[in-house]
Amino acid sequence: MRLPPQTQEATAPEIHAYILGAGITSLSAAVHLLQEGHLPASHIHILETLDQAGGGTVSCGDAEQGYHYRAGGMPLLNGEAMATLLAEVPSETHPGKSVLDDLYEYWGLSASSAHQQQQQQQQQSSECHQTRLLRRSKHGLVRIDCKRSTNLGLRDRMEVFRFMNKRETVLGRSRISDYFGKGFFGGCYWGVLSTTFGFKPCHSAAEFHRALHRFGHDLSHLTSSHPRPLDGGQYNRHESLVAPTARFLRDQGVDFQFKTTVSDIIFADAPDTVPSSSSTAAPTNSRGSTPARANSFGSAHQKLPEDDDSKKSRQPEQQPYPPRLVSAIIAHPFNEPEQTIRVQPHDIVLVSLGSAMSGSSLGSNTTAPPLYQMEADHELDENWLLWLELTTKDPRRLGNAYNFCTRLEESRLESFTITLRAGGNCIIDRITGAGTGIQTVKGNGLFVSLIDAPWVVSLHVPPQPVFPDQPGHVQVLWGYALYPERKGEVVQKTMLECTGEEILREVLAQLNFKDAEMERILQGALTVPCVVPRMAAGLLPRGEGNRPRVIPPAIRNLGLIGQFVEIEGETGVTAMEYSVLGAQMAVRKLIGRQAATEEHQQHKVKESRKRSWLPLPCA
Ligand SMILES: Cc1cc2nc3c(=O)[nH]c(=O)nc-3n(C[C@H](O)[C@H](O)[C@H](O)COP(=O)(O)OP(=O)(O)OC[C@H]3O[C@@H](n4cnc5c(N)ncnc54)[C@H](O)[C@@H]3O)c2cc1C
Repeated sequence: MRLPPQTQEATAPEIHAYILGAGITSLSAAVHLLQEGHLPASHIHILETLDQAGGGTVSCGDAEQGYHYRAGGMPLLNGEAMATLLAEVPSETHPGKSVLDDLYEYWGLSASSAHQQQQQQQQQSSECHQTRLLRRSKHGLVRIDCKRSTNLGLRDRMEVFRFMNKRETVLGRSRISDYFGKGFFGGCYWGVLSTTFGFKPCHSAAEFHRALHRFGHDLSHLTSSHPRPLDGGQYNRHESLVAPTARFLRDQGVDFQFKTTVSDIIFADAPDTVPSSSSTAAPTNSRGSTPARANSFGSAHQKLPEDDDSKKSRQPEQQPYPPRLVSAIIAHPFNEPEQTIRVQPHDIVLVSLGSAMSGSSLGSNTTAPPLYQMEADHELDENWLLWLELTTKDPRRLGNAYNFCTRLEESRLESFTITLRAGGNCIIDRITGAGTGIQTVKGNGLFVSLIDAPWVVSLHVPPQPVFPDQPGHVQVLWGYALYPERKGEVVQKTMLECTGEEILREVLAQLNFKDAEMERILQGALTVPCVVPRMAAGLLPRGEGNRPRVIPPAIRNLGLIGQFVEIEGETGVTAMEYSVLGAQMAVRKLIGRQAATEEHQQHKVKESRKRSWLPLPCA
């Protein structure tokens, strides 16, 4: 199909934006289109398979049946991108304020100096000692806090130093295990990083490289100030961050089309009026940024100068990118005929790629998650199917979905939610060492990892209550395991085969609970296990181009968002922050407002590179 040449620039009121999915990534794109782009709310169309907004963060269950805290409790480490988003969502309770103000108020920070106060709090918190790892010794549990005991020996220090000073391009598709010895993987430094982000030795060296540059120099800062104000408020992160954003958009009149699945995106050749130089080269850098331009929606049709990045990435022998446009979206409303949504050249289409939740398999306290769902080709959800379709159409520009959705052995983790009617305090006391004379400071929420346990289990004890309907006497804990395919010591089964009760039994045994106490806790507990075969898919080794750019070269009305796009210098281990940042970059680029943040982004990348020279923790 060939579209008519573009004759005049479109203005905000004429533009329609189509956003696939209603997870936090897509919602943040909608907020920025509304607040920064000034698109009429009714021109923002969100097409979502499910019947509600929130995607992977929506939880389910109750105190009677047991909660399933879906997107769990790994540290979020939300930062500037999330703050920018929440500052644009008005408070539901305080007129004239934002959700960001509400969060700061909840954590006792004043909005004007919140950043400074937050840093002070984090500083104080990182000066306290707080259990982060639990190791076993013949004397019982050893509680290790990041400040004191995650030091590196000389050999490991040298390995880390050498690794950090490699260029990312040299690392290619290599794995973390290609650069470090066995000793490194047995140590606490690796223990903290791997359990905080879900890294395994087989994962991407390039992603680990980015994570080390960002966090590697100060692990205590990374984890001992958990939770942080931007990671959630009174209840869980969905209730505090995602639900108010969705309600705001709905109240503004954004067009949510639930129970509607998008199966294909149709492209057309772009009009001849596009200057040849912009179509033959990738017109954006990997952050989708462009030089300063007027605040005009027509800017998407202007000639964009080639930047350094695209010059570098374009090999002399490479064919030029043919200029294209999204011309239609194929949607399937539930129980209705297929629809073809026509997309004009000046419209915007934002596609969220891939999904960590795809193929998740839920068990119960008395049943293990069904295993048949965990096969590579089973239960690929709409998100992957669509990306696979796009990969087939244009692998050079739209990435390689196969790289991320088929290696379940390497991307699979298992999570579990424990609903405790009694015994929660015993578990917290056991973790912190209360009553033993060696108690470490209790934080307002704990994240600890049992790194000697066969499954390598991490436990998150969030501030209670986690859910609005949670009764006062009930506590909810969340956990996940890095190696669910290994056999437990007490239950003598792989975690994948275990019921919720068996998982909790193994965890309690690893925490050194004796039989009677263990039985008492088990009686008052409901544990819901969930195998998530692609939870760590974003950490799999990847080659250049496997992750597409936020704005694919020479496709002027398409933005790609989510955890699987490439944002130079940023690490996807801060999953939500990364996705929100990508959505902001896509929107700003497509509406021609990226210039303001351009310099700042470049500064951030440079700063993160400089950190490789900071001293590493030493023995
Ligand atoms: C067990 C688990 C624990 C996690 N813990 C954390 C954590 O601690 N910290 C963190 O930052 N992140 C965590 N994550 C990741 C977290 O879920 C993501 O950061 C966040 O949900 C990503 O949001 P998203 O909008 O990109 O994708 P999703 O939340 O997956 O939303 C995508 C939405 O798009 C819809 N959709 C997809 N394809 C189509 C289509 N073709 N047509 C129509 N609709 C479509 C889906 O139905 C879904 O609603 C966790 C994930 C899992 C699985």
